[in-house]
Amino acid sequence: MFGEMLEMVLPARCGGCGVAGAVLCEGCEVAVRGRPSVRGPDPGPLGLPVCWAAGEYAGPVRRAVIAYKERGRVALAGPLGDALAGVLAVAMAEVVPGGPVGVVPVPSAPGAGRRRGHDPVGRLAALAVRTLARQGWPVTLARAVEPCGHVADQARLGAAERAVNLAGAFRACPPARRGGEPWRGEGVAVLVDDVVTTGATLAEAARALRAAGVGVPLAVTLAATPRTRQRPQERAGERPRHVRGRGGTETTRRGDRKPAGHVG
Ligand SMILES: [Zn+2]
Repeated sequence: MFGEMLEMVLPARCGGCGVAGAVLCEGCEVAVRGRPSVRGPDPGPLGLPVCWAAGEYAGPVRRAVIAYKERGRVALAGPLGDALAGVLAVAMAEVVPGGPVGVVPVPSAPGAGRRRGHDPVGRLAALAVRTLARQGWPVTLARAVEPCGHVADQARLGAAERAVNLAGAFRACPPARRGGEPWRGEGVAVLVDDVVTTGATLAEAARALRAAGVGVPLAVTLAATPRTRQRPQERAGERPRHVRGRGGTETTRRGDRKPAGHVG
């Protein structure tokens, strides 16, 4: 990969702030690790599992994710994979204590994957699973969702267009085509993605898995796009309250009755 070759010859610069000397400086690493909690769209689209993220998709976190995903800074996979493992550990302890869990990376749209020349989310998921398995978590990597049909790149689409663009976009892979550890038909799926914005992608991936009989109680991302619409108690200066654990699904299910075309 040309990007990987460039990384070997150029001096390292922080993917979050650009300071010389490290792939990700100490301060930006702290920012990327964030504070795992229930985050994401509220209300979310129908079928969105309870969604945890390390922090907001802004500042150094956003720059590091873009550098990794779009600019070929694959050396950032290490610290970003560690951060993803951190969110997974906290979220799984709350939502699926005891496991076992199949960690399912959301696939990139085929065109986006080809343009980038790598599978950014799949790589982070693999690293996070390896870290967690070493720590004794009952997790396996299950590349159990694949795209089917045409899906346009989501980047410039709004919430309603994303939901329409993604309807029927994914399917559960037949077992023979799964990479990583085989799905053993036990436990539940935890979806992982780099960023959650409207939740449409995660909801569609969850739909595909549930259609194949797999439970999907949780989705985990590195970062969540900051909410633009504020609820009354947030405007009054109070922190939004999130019910943790299984009860946390109430937070995201409040909008379930909205038609699919009006998500986010
Ligand atoms: Zn930095």
